[in-house]
Amino acid sequence: MFKSLGDLDALLEQHDEYRSNCLNLIASENFTSMKVRSYLDNDFGNRYGCYATLNPSVRDYTGNKYINEFEMATHELMKEVFHGEYVDLRPIGGHMAGMSVVLALLDPGDLVIEVSLENWGHGLVGPMCQVSHFNKTINVKYMAFDEDRAVDIAKLEAQIRAEKPKLVIFGGSGTLFPEPVRQFRPLADELGFYIAYDASHVTGLIAGGLFPNPLDEGADIMFGSTHKSFPGPQGGFVTSNNRDMMKKVGETLSPSLVTSHHLFRIPALAASLLEMKTYGPAYAKQIVANSKALAVALEKVGFNVLGKNRGFSESHIILVDAGAQVKAGPAKHLEQAQILCSDDFSGASPEIRIGTSEITRRGMKEEDMDAIAQLIYRSLILKEDAGVVASDVKALVAKFPDVAFAF
Ligand SMILES: *Cc1c(COP(=O)(O)O)cnc(C)c1O
Repeated sequence: MFKSLGDLDALLEQHDEYRSNCLNLIASENFTSMKVRSYLDNDFGNRYGCYATLNPSVRDYTGNKYINEFEMATHELMKEVFHGEYVDLRPIGGHMAGMSVVLALLDPGDLVIEVSLENWGHGLVGPMCQVSHFNKTINVKYMAFDEDRAVDIAKLEAQIRAEKPKLVIFGGSGTLFPEPVRQFRPLADELGFYIAYDASHVTGLIAGGLFPNPLDEGADIMFGSTHKSFPGPQGGFVTSNNRDMMKKVGETLSPSLVTSHHLFRIPALAASLLEMKTYGPAYAKQIVANSKALAVALEKVGFNVLGKNRGFSESHIILVDAGAQVKAGPAKHLEQAQILCSDDFSGASPEIRIGTSEITRRGMKEEDMDAIAQLIYRSLILKEDAGVVASDVKALVAKFPDVAFAF
């Protein structure tokens, strides 16, 4: 139990020490620059900023003069970086942002097609439909992927024609390649379904201009997280060029899903948007270069890296099928050696998801990827003593104490 602030400090210090000695390959995490972090400590975190959707200057609470100005200026930065005419920053995470879109756009009985958990979907609508009152109103089906882990366009088209969804959500937690948003826009117009894009993972790559911007490609609406490949504070957003849609989303969000929208994160988000305007293109380019180099390095030591026919990855993610070599639970095994990554959370497959955002932020480049592949190989395949591998992990990460692509 904590008895004094010193106890808190000691535990936080232990955490920092531990994490700075880990090699973080978790694709949904990132390292935020010290400058951006410094903006998390502000008075906004103790204030209420509830507002009327599409008319944010009408605030429920008094005392919002500068909060309104700050939030609106941050909206302007979001619009510039993500190309949406309307922005909502009230979702406190990508999941809530997605919920607001789903609940706003659907009527009882409507069908959603999304990415399944088996294909590294996030589980946005599927898990919600396990709540019995939701499955009476929302139906969910899943899109197919090809053997390189790209959306199977022909199968999806046939599925859409047969099943008539109201909403198709592209984007998942294992996105290797840009989704076919542009290809499905004409079909959406023909059949009258909406295209939403869950950008939670690839927000930073979109901000860097490397990943196609889904709104430019024809998505009706985009939502996501601000803390995965985008190196900002934890939070969510929704953006679109469709006024009516954003009105519905905003009115679903607030006051049903959120009232206090955790305003303390807005200054840090604004700082990270400025940071990405400056460094985003170079950062995104290095991320993809690192992904490709790490995929090649892992193949060299004998791993089966997915997406080979398409160059392994155009994102911050690579997927390794360690099926033949490793029993379920590779992430927990690697954790012993202070290498952090993800495996299939259901434990159904021994697939490993590796992300390159954080190592790129720490300044690692293509030539450092061989060393990472070796460490993974020694831990997972050679089953070397975890302590021995961990000490080499520490030695590697100690060479990268800085934050790259940052103010
Ligand atoms: C992480 C993730 C989410 C949820 O985002 P949070 O910010 O954790 O709430 C939603 N969709 C996808 C595809 C994700 O990967």
